[in-house]
Amino acid sequence: MRAEADRAVCVGAGMCALVAPAVFGQDDDEGRVVLLDARPADGAAAREAVRLCPSGAIAVRA
Ligand code: SF4
Repeated sequence: MRAEADRAVCVGAGMCALVAPAVFGQDDDEGRVVLLDARPADGAAAREAVRLCPSGAIAVRA
């Protein structure tokens, strides 16, 4: 599995960092998503983060 994050699309809602903190974080300045682990071991958490993200800024691919 691969995780991706598009900082240009992110609105800084923070759901991803709450649900999958090993995969997604937020920068200190704007609160936009930071990809912490592009090959997450916990796919379920990463998928849930994608489901909850309001902007469609993150994705996971097989
Ligand atoms: S949940 Fe989506 S909009 Fe919110 S910080 Fe994460 S990527 Fe950005």
